[in-house]
Amino acid sequence: MEAATEFVVESPDVVYSPETIEAQYEYRTTSVSREGGVLKVPRLGVMLVGWGGNNGSTLTAAVLANRLRLSWPTRTGRKEANYYGSLTQAGTVSLGLDAEGKEVFVPFSSLLPMVAPDDLVFDGWDISSLNLAEAMRRAQVLDWGLQEQLWPHMEAMRPRPSVYIPEFIAANQSARADNVIPGTRAQQLEQIRRDIRDFRFSAGLDKVIVLWTANTERFCEVIPGLNDTAENLLRTIQLGLEVSPSTLFAVASILEGCAFLNGSPQNTLVPGALELAWQRRVFVGGDDFKSGQTKVKSVLVDFLIGSGLKTMSIVSYNHLGNNDGQNLSAPPQFRSKEVSKSSVVDDMVHSNPVLYSPGEQPDHCVVIKYVPYVGDSKRALDEYTSELMLGGTNTLVLHNTCEDSLLAAPIMLDLALLTELCQRVSFCTDVDPDPQSFHPVLSLLGFLFKAPLAPPGSPVVNALFRQRSCIENILRACVGLPPQNHMLLEHKME
Ligand code: NAD
Repeated sequence: MEAATEFVVESPDVVYSPETIEAQYEYRTTSVSREGGVLKVPRLGVMLVGWGGNNGSTLTAAVLANRLRLSWPTRTGRKEANYYGSLTQAGTVSLGLDAEGKEVFVPFSSLLPMVAPDDLVFDGWDISSLNLAEAMRRAQVLDWGLQEQLWPHMEAMRPRPSVYIPEFIAANQSARADNVIPGTRAQQLEQIRRDIRDFRFSAGLDKVIVLWTANTERFCEVIPGLNDTAENLLRTIQLGLEVSPSTLFAVASILEGCAFLNGSPQNTLVPGALELAWQRRVFVGGDDFKSGQTKVKSVLVDFLIGSGLKTMSIVSYNHLGNNDGQNLSAPPQFRSKEVSKSSVVDDMVHSNPVLYSPGEQPDHCVVIKYVPYVGDSKRALDEYTSELMLGGTNTLVLHNTCEDSLLAAPIMLDLALLTELCQRVSFCTDVDPDPQSFHPVLSLLGFLFKAPLAPPGSPVVNALFRQRSCIENILRACVGLPPQNHMLLEHKME
């Protein structure tokens, strides 16, 4: 009998004969013995745009609660502050095998020296003037016993005035906008830059990272001459032509040499902003935190297609009752979210030409509804229908309920910590011995974003465990460890 092969490996280490393939393969594994060390990390400040929102106030509260080692009573017993949901703080990696052949797992954060979240310093902007304690109460996310303990620590934190351009967010947000920077776009840009410098200086920081966690804006049109190049974008701001608040923040951050990350779905990082980041060698990342439904999708569809099942229909309903939900109830803002949620399975579909013919896609429908009563406790209902062999069908239905901001806050933390870490990584190649950094579009952060930005021409990966492996293996490479291959060959040979 004969079996056709789709490819042959051309290598001096591989020899084909009609019956056999003989390969020389170097299997690299790691044996672990324990020893610690201490390394210096910078003092990092994080500026949140939308600081007084549910995510902003929850993240600030979470870091304070951990720093202060708070615990509080609830009807199901005492709870203690933790960082569950954070890849770096609550995730682990398998380092290798110990002398007995057992896998040794270490916290993700211990792979390389990272800033400790408890040491982060927060500041930020919001169009709403509520202090952070009041914002925490408005968010209705945290248990009352925790809020009471945090109140005195958050009361003095006041968001700086921000840029409010009504046509970019839903009209239902206008009542919040009592804390705005006056003046022209150019003056607003200068004020944001001054705020960043002021925070860096007054808090004695080595670095500042700016993270957009404000309302979802409508998409802005990319127009030649307006925002297509760095030069045009800067001129547009000077002339007071159309620019979104989030793009204004991105430009200010880049000009101040601070990484800018976009946690919402809109196209903040227009080509002109990306070019500016490239020119200034400043990291940018986005878009839209990958927290609940999309995270599950990027695992489940990977699992289905990876198992050889042909997923043909994905239908996702959401309802939520927080301010984000209210903002998303306006069609242009919903559209931004719909776009960002829609291409999250593309890479998995393209990865399998056995199942999908060119251009073939599963039906994919996303619905979001605002239901005030459920507050921050977002509901996500998903239905996945896949074809089985010989005409069978499999339908999976999921109902996911959880506090949206408690999913997003640890992601925001990881974004800041990993971005800062990446700023300290440099490498050189045989071709180019000069040390170089990562590309300014920091695609390594893809695990944390729904619609990951990648450098031009780079494949976009959405599959969650590929994204996780990428971070893990790059961090391992920085300490000279081989990539995690999960082969455990030591245990598979006689
Ligand atoms: P939120 O509405 O509670 O908070 C947003 C805050 O931004 C508000 O306090 C608002 O006053 C402020 N704001 C609006 N425009 C501003 C501007 N121009 N400058 C400064 N502040 C401004 O919303 P949230 O639940 O905290 O979510 C924040 C963003 O994160 C939303 O865009 C949401 O879609 C996105 N997101 C959230 C999650 C999640 O799981 N929570 C996941 C993915 C993306």
